[in-house]
Amino acid sequence: MQHFPIFVAVAGRRVVLSGGGDAALAKLRLLLRTEAHLTVLAADPAPEIEGWAAEGRLRLIRRAAEAGDTLCAVLAYGANEDADEDARFAALARADGALVNIVDNLEDSQFITPAIVDRDPVTVAIGTEGAAPVLARRIKADLEAALPAGLGTLARIGKGFRRAADALPMGRKRRDFWSDFYFGAGPRTLEQDGAPGVQRLLDRLLTRHLDAAPESGRVVFVGAGPGDPELLTLKARRALDTADVVIHDRLVPAAILELVRREAEIVDAGKEGFGPSTPQNRINALMVEHARAGAHVVRLKAGDPAVFGRLDEETEAVAVAGIDWSVVPGITAASAAAARIGTSLTRRGRNSDLRMLTGHDMAGFTEQDWQALARPGAVAAIYMAKRGARFLQGRLMMHDADPATPVTVVENATRPDERIVTARLGTLSDDIARAALTGPAVLLYGLAPPAVAAALPHQPVKELAQ
Ligand code: SAH
Repeated sequence: MQHFPIFVAVAGRRVVLSGGGDAALAKLRLLLRTEAHLTVLAADPAPEIEGWAAEGRLRLIRRAAEAGDTLCAVLAYGANEDADEDARFAALARADGALVNIVDNLEDSQFITPAIVDRDPVTVAIGTEGAAPVLARRIKADLEAALPAGLGTLARIGKGFRRAADALPMGRKRRDFWSDFYFGAGPRTLEQDGAPGVQRLLDRLLTRHLDAAPESGRVVFVGAGPGDPELLTLKARRALDTADVVIHDRLVPAAILELVRREAEIVDAGKEGFGPSTPQNRINALMVEHARAGAHVVRLKAGDPAVFGRLDEETEAVAVAGIDWSVVPGITAASAAAARIGTSLTRRGRNSDLRMLTGHDMAGFTEQDWQALARPGAVAAIYMAKRGARFLQGRLMMHDADPATPVTVVENATRPDERIVTARLGTLSDDIARAALTGPAVLLYGLAPPAVAAALPHQPVKELAQ
């Protein structure tokens, strides 16, 4: 981020603009919505500017800028559409201590003006660091359409009620009151009865929320999917939006944690394969403790919580404590990996079953139905297999599996650092060692990307993406 978005207090403070043409008009239309004291310096101002000056909405000085014109100004705009004049003005303004913006000149500006969606007092500022004004305009248009025109009115009336609403205990109760106001009863009442109705509504709503029984805590086990935030379900998004506490696995990436409600407490309960970990009973205790205190707890697990996620142990612990819980499924690594290589996990005539295996569990490498897996056409998604590859390979070869059986390794599926490595069973452990995997990887045994599969069995082992 090269520019940090802030909202500058301009009410009653000086903002000075130099220029009288189109660029000046465009900026003035925005600035006139503020409560700033505007001064315009222009030898030859457009008629609109003269009109605003006549109405007393700004002060017009009919000459070019001079030293001292920007004294005590908080912001100064160079809008002369003339590089030399803008540079001269900028130097004067900087000497007076004002922050300077030169229209259409990012490099020499100390601040930039974002695209604005105005639902005063709700203001949305959209910036692209000057990179894509078209994008900013499009986002602005989308937001203009999405934010109801009455939002500003609701926010203004709501602001005046904040002190009264403090009668509700801080946290969830108060938040529920405000979301009911802004997203439920408020817009409905505004539409039916206008602003006076909304004012009356607030008292009724407050009484209702004060009398409501306290909500009890609960735990939602949420699948975070393979890593791409766009692969979260709508329910997962909503759970993250309303969570008080989020307890997450090591595999949940920062891009997803970014989506958690800002006030929520985020607890990293990473369980490193063989390394340091948060003991399971500590995680269970944390969930119970927070839910008992009335919190909405989200237990955020990579992929689908029901696949190699110790889900039952956690739901049992929560249930024994008498706490409400539910599960939001997620996209498991096998589905994500298959999508990325563009292949089907099942196929008529090839495999009518699909196994999900783990390469190792807490007791070590895991035994499987090797005979079934060794049959031609068998397909399995193998999780946590990096360390177990040699073992898998040995067991399968011992049961006469074809060494040419394709195995596709997908590391960091759907994440920016995703890698796809195509291998064969006969050389699997060497192929994996050569790939030097560092991220989570799932093995698709019996599957190859379509292009590789078409060339089998003569295709040499190769790496598709680095
Ligand atoms: N519940 C998860 C699996 C947890 S076990 C799920 O449904 O996906 C952890 C293993 O999942 C990792 O060792 C790896 O095999 C696999 N895994 C999780 N995320 C992955 C990703 N983005 N890419 C590849 N494999 C992944």
